[in-house]
Amino acid sequence: MSAGDLRDLYQQVIMDHNKKPRNFREMSDANHLAHGNNPLCGDALVVYLKLNGDVIEDVSFQGSGCAISVASASLMTEALKGKTSAEADALYDLVHKQMTGEEVDTSALGKLEVLSGVKEFPARVKCATLSWHTIHAAMDSDHDISVTTE
Ligand code: ZN
Repeated sequence: MSAGDLRDLYQQVIMDHNKKPRNFREMSDANHLAHGNNPLCGDALVVYLKLNGDVIEDVSFQGSGCAISVASASLMTEALKGKTSAEADALYDLVHKQMTGEEVDTSALGKLEVLSGVKEFPARVKCATLSWHTIHAAMDSDHDISVTTE
């Protein structure tokens, strides 16, 4: 994908997922949840998770934030359903690398490749990674936990 195509796609996908976030709901039978805050921007999300053993059976989120934090959370919930926690961590590693400009194997990323567009806006990387930090904290804890970006 050329840089120009990727930029257009980035803007379209972010706008679409911000306007119509996927899996944007409270989950009454969640067995893990975490609150994520990015005070630099004012993004505040709650990630709900239903883990069955090691498998992410369901994932959803709620809260408010800028377009990139909401769109990234929406894309994340779509990408992680059905994955194991180890697969989720591996995927986050790739997402974070591409956001900071490292070359990664984009075939493993699917739709998440558009998030690499954020590397042109370094101040927004924390917005884009907030939901990923939050789900990581949720998977590691069996009680409600809060995480804050540094
Ligand atoms: Zn933000």
